Amino acid sequence: TRGLAEADPAVFGGISHELTREQTQIELIASENIVSKAVLQAQGSVFTNKYAEGYPGKRYYQGCHPSDEVETLALERAKQLFGCSYANVQPHSGAQANGAVLLALVKPGETILGMSLDAGGHLTHGARAAMSGKWFNAVQYGVDPITHLIDFDEVAKLAREHQPKLIIAGGSAYPRAIDFAKFRAIADEVGAYFMVDMAHFAGLVAAGLHPSPFPHAHIATTTTHKTLRGPRGGMILSDDEALGKKLNSAVFPGLQGGPLMHVIAAKAVAFGEALQPGYKSYIAAVIENAKVLAATLKERGAEVVSGGTDTHLALIDLTPLGVTGKDADEALERAGITCNKNGIPNDPLPPTKTSGIRVGSPAGTTRGFGPAEFREIGNMVADVLDGLRKNGEQGDAQVEANVRERVLALCARFPIYPEGV
Ligand code: PLP
Repeated sequence: TRGLAEADPAVFGGISHELTREQTQIELIASENIVSKAVLQAQGSVFTNKYAEGYPGKRYYQGCHPSDEVETLALERAKQLFGCSYANVQPHSGAQANGAVLLALVKPGETILGMSLDAGGHLTHGARAAMSGKWFNAVQYGVDPITHLIDFDEVAKLAREHQPKLIIAGGSAYPRAIDFAKFRAIADEVGAYFMVDMAHFAGLVAAGLHPSPFPHAHIATTTTHKTLRGPRGGMILSDDEALGKKLNSAVFPGLQGGPLMHVIAAKAVAFGEALQPGYKSYIAAVIENAKVLAATLKERGAEVVSGGTDTHLALIDLTPLGVTGKDADEALERAGITCNKNGIPNDPLPPTKTSGIRVGSPAGTTRGFGPAEFREIGNMVADVLDGLRKNGEQGDAQVEANVRERVLALCARFPIYPEGV
């Protein structure tokens, strides 16, 4: 009956610190967002107690009627959001969702074709360090060195040469809309399945402000915690119910045991929110704000990979400023702005240093920042970068302290979780 503060002050302390951090820092990490109180409540609910192996109506345990109720809501809402006939909301994460697709469609040693990490792909698309790269013959495509756009001639050439079973589109740091029809044509030519990992831009698709993977993709996977603004988790979608059967078996019992019913309840809440008209205006603002942020950084001397963005994120090349991604993200955190260092296409620096940072607008837009605030944020980021340019890695402490004050003032004007959580 004791609350967390009393029962475990140490963990309560850590959570309080995280709340304060989120309230007082500007979040530019493109894969993060700020969920509603309703999502938090669902995730913190008694469903964490429940085992519900199986799927609605076909469970291996008793007592699953309430689980069926919320999972069905999540499934119906997901299908409505993305206009498809099959969904699986059980993957514990985006990596699990992608792992389940590999398990369902590809055997170890067979070939997959995905975007390389340094071009903006994800670990689960065939990177050497990951299961996707160790257990499969992973062939990787990159981007054009000049335009930074996917080079479809290269994708087609690699597909013809290596005859992959699965072709994957989508990534973690690719700022442009992807031509899904072109990918599907290549997949059809070589008899491959085509999967879109829309983890980053799923919210834009849900709002109808980004091309949909369907009808081109056989399968789409996503995380639910980025632009979709739900709890941390994954999901698989398809318009092919026969494929859906295979995918269900791959998730459970293939890859996972019991579903996280508290997370699935929170997914249902987030999908319900994304079906509201207000979500479309939110995503429209996300896209506009990302453009403003990228343009401001460009005006202040940085390069923007691919020249701009169609999405919620921009990849900023710091080479013209003579600053590394590592020095930049550390200095920015000192100033109260969080983002991540990120390799740029053909980056001469190692992943531990990098020549770029990735910035995104989803979290800031949730707290209410508009174009004026994102212009100010762009200028604050540029001020900190100028300090690094002049003084090297230690930066300019005075500028950083000044930006920290401006960040606090901006955060105070746009509070989050004002009454605590
Ligand atoms: N796919 C893409 C494109 C991602 O960007 C990410 C996460 O960053 C994932 C998959 C993996 O998601 P998770 O971190 O939930 O495993």
